[in-house]
Amino acid sequence: MTKTTLVAFDLDDTLAPSKSPMDPRMSHLLSELLEVVEVCIISGGQFSQFKMQAIDNLPDPSSSHLERLHLMPTCGTQYYRKDGDLWKQIYAENLTEDEKTRALAAVETRARELGYWESDTWGPILEDRGSQITFSALGQAAPVSAKQAWDPTGEKKNTLREAVQRDLPDLEVRSGGSTSVDITRQGIDKAYGMKKLSELTGIPLDDMLFIGDRLDENGNDYPVKALGVRTHAVADWEETAAYVEKLIPELRGEAAGR
Ligand SMILES: [Mg+2]
Repeated sequence: MTKTTLVAFDLDDTLAPSKSPMDPRMSHLLSELLEVVEVCIISGGQFSQFKMQAIDNLPDPSSSHLERLHLMPTCGTQYYRKDGDLWKQIYAENLTEDEKTRALAAVETRARELGYWESDTWGPILEDRGSQITFSALGQAAPVSAKQAWDPTGEKKNTLREAVQRDLPDLEVRSGGSTSVDITRQGIDKAYGMKKLSELTGIPLDDMLFIGDRLDENGNDYPVKALGVRTHAVADWEETAAYVEKLIPELRGEAAGR
């Protein structure tokens, strides 16, 4: 019989609209879920993004259930847990200065060559996230509509990704969100984060369930599926909310039967 003791979520377009705060309906469901199982949020984004989108919108920030919440920014190369009133960074695996310098130079050079270096942006195009360098074609704070219009087929993002990967054979270059390209050490993806989570918590991968909006083969959630973790695909946070609403009583039943 399957047993689920941890439910992991992607953040953008799974728990919340892209780069936006979580809806109160979703935060209440997340709180309720935390009464039943451990919960993890894993994303390519940084901790500040987790805070703005999820943590700051939880209904009761002092709830002891938050001790069961595991935060894995930048695909689990960083790990945060609740410690008293604070969210404490347990570890961060950062790129070296040399890796960062080469990554920033390669992505800017190739983006300019390809004509993808925009002058009108919403915030900086390049971002040093410690363990990850991120290129966001229109800046971090670009509205969803502008991002969708910039590269509707994903062709620009993929062309840039391939060119930068050729320049940085020792690093890994992946397409992130709709207009972003992420550079990390090799082998860093959400599967890496989920394996780390299993080591850190002692919870076997078989007892975990992952929910994400990009479980398709080109998506940034796909590595978790390829790892063999049970997954559930959603199109947006509303679908996640509807699914979690059904999941909570099922998991309560499972827990009662143990
Ligand atoms: Mg997503």
